[in-house]
Amino acid sequence: MESTLPILKFEETIIETVDKNPVVVIIGETGSGKSTQLSQILHRHGHTKHGTIAVTQPRRVAAVSVARRVAQELGVRLGEEVGYAIRFEDRTSEKTCIKYLTDGCLLRESLSNPELKQYSVIILDEAHERSLNTDILLGLMKRLVKTRSSNLKVLITSATLDGTKVSRFFSTCPVLTVPGKLFPVEVLYSSESSTSFLESSLKTALDIHIREPPGDVLIFMTGQDDIEKMVSKLEEKVLSLEEGSCMDAIILPLHGSLPPEMQVRVFSPAPPNCRRFIVATNIAETSLTVDGVVYVIDSGYVKQRQYNPATGMYSLDIVQISKVQADQRAGRAGRTCPGKCYRLYPSTVYHEDFLDVTIPEIQRSSLAGTVLYLKSLDLPDIDILTFDFLDPPSRESLGDALKQLYLIDAIDESGLITDVGQRMAELPLEPSLSRTLIEANELGCLSQALTVTAMLSAETSLLPTRRKGTEKKRKNPLSDLPDGSGWGDHIQLLQIYEKWDQANYDPQWCIENDLQVRGMKFTKDVRKQLCQLMQKMAEGPLDVQSNRKQKESGQAYRRLRRALCTGYGNQLAERMIHHNGYRTLGYTSQLAQVHPSSVLEMDEDGCLPDYVVYHELITTSRPFMRNVCAVEMSWVMPILKKLEKLNVNKLSGGSGITEENEARVVEPLGSPKNDAVASKAPDD
Ligand code: ADP
Repeated sequence: MESTLPILKFEETIIETVDKNPVVVIIGETGSGKSTQLSQILHRHGHTKHGTIAVTQPRRVAAVSVARRVAQELGVRLGEEVGYAIRFEDRTSEKTCIKYLTDGCLLRESLSNPELKQYSVIILDEAHERSLNTDILLGLMKRLVKTRSSNLKVLITSATLDGTKVSRFFSTCPVLTVPGKLFPVEVLYSSESSTSFLESSLKTALDIHIREPPGDVLIFMTGQDDIEKMVSKLEEKVLSLEEGSCMDAIILPLHGSLPPEMQVRVFSPAPPNCRRFIVATNIAETSLTVDGVVYVIDSGYVKQRQYNPATGMYSLDIVQISKVQADQRAGRAGRTCPGKCYRLYPSTVYHEDFLDVTIPEIQRSSLAGTVLYLKSLDLPDIDILTFDFLDPPSRESLGDALKQLYLIDAIDESGLITDVGQRMAELPLEPSLSRTLIEANELGCLSQALTVTAMLSAETSLLPTRRKGTEKKRKNPLSDLPDGSGWGDHIQLLQIYEKWDQANYDPQWCIENDLQVRGMKFTKDVRKQLCQLMQKMAEGPLDVQSNRKQKESGQAYRRLRRALCTGYGNQLAERMIHHNGYRTLGYTSQLAQVHPSSVLEMDEDGCLPDYVVYHELITTSRPFMRNVCAVEMSWVMPILKKLEKLNVNKLSGGSGITEENEARVVEPLGSPKNDAVASKAPDD
């Protein structure tokens, strides 16, 4: 199959252009072979003689999957000549000459090695995704090609990116276009927008199965929940089709949180006389190419995380896709033969409502981690305000990031990175968690903080799900947790891990307790790695084992809560006196409730704690705080004092973050005890 991939016909042109230019942009249709073949082409032509080829991917799944494929094509063992590195997992060795890694991992490597000297070629793959980290890398590469002009080649590849814009960004570097070999795709619009894209997709899928000739069906859903629903509905309906299709059906989910063995199933072709239904997120738009697709069902929606710097709140919205995304989705139907794309919306929606291109992540994310990263780079000429971005972030989100970093002591009042900030940047964690670890180390509860941080780094929640109505009948093995679990989710996460530890990390214990074995094992591994990083950073040896078993858990919990209060200094909330919930402090005050899944408990007066910190503020049906932990007023006050003194303009070195966007300080209400009952939000 490889020999027919379009990119291979351009091998000579690619090599010639790369030889003559430090930066080359390569635009090619999804599936033309950019991710799997470019590195091999350069390897064949000697580019691995003096260094490794790095290929960045915005998604972990893609880094692993493409590395596996390339190792297979070259007939080598994964982790040897061809390897990959994603956060908390490094499968490379001395032998590795082609390394797939997430864009975040390459950024991290550049902290200890700003010139990225081990690499002879850096390929920024999937640049059209415009992930936050790829955008930062674009800026860094621009600088790096100047300092390493003689021995570094940079390639930027994309399926849809505006090549001229990137070329201009890199002093009009050449743009090579690999013509795709797409077959025509007939686009069929619905006459009106459907009220339920799940139902419409289901109906369309069944119609295809009954009426259309062989060919796999790719259905775009918005997220894991929709996918699971769709898979089970399809299974039920396809099996019960009476005068149904004469073909069998296989139904496969495809999303980023699937275990790897499930992900690779989409790469096996359908058996004879069988149609595959692949129900996927936008991961199948460009990241992973599924062969054999002839029919595409496009709901027109995508789930997008959006950050609001004024409130510090995330929303996970189902939004309309852009025209570029819709075209990509349609293109998936024409890779092997002429295909059909069923758009579940009218053509006027496509033409009039859809944005031309997707908004880059840098313009809809919290930038605290990015700003800290840029400040920690040992490069005097790089500054957040002058950094060369392809599309700059808003001044408001830069101001918000500076404020966050200041409140957790990562930068001082003139915006300079502190010692604490420098150490924080060395940890592959979001700033709130790295700050918590550093504080916990000072307070003597590092072991507990490492556990909580690792538990929060797992991809899915590790709190056992509470099933409605089944509590009584079900054995609840966590019911004998020691006192303190009512302090909130962080403490509960810690206690769960400690119980597993006492059960000698037995997988069966996880199963009996409704906990994901894979997630728990991942946590154990992450904990070990974070522990090693902390050890490296500390001057003397750390005592993280002995206090693991310590009896006075009450004291350790209190210290841990205190460390969390420091780390989450920008994520504080105070209980409302006359309201059913909390309001956030430090931002434009936002009313929010404790998420129904939380284990935070009320006291004997029926009141929730006066102050809490939260891991995340997210709007679904309404604003919720997820993963909350009770903290004490005396710990909160110094942070509020700091907030009062805050001058965002000074934090940005006096150079232009507008003052009107400064945080409005919210006066604490004082102790709201014995007042109106604040309760947890009911199940939504
Ligand atoms: P592009 O980067 O241009 O989108 P890729 O290099 O990802 O193209 O894909 C080229 C071909 O390799 C496609 O036919 C795709 O299905 C196949 N492929 C990619 N990854 C895998 C994998 N892990 N297993 C099997 N086939 C794969």
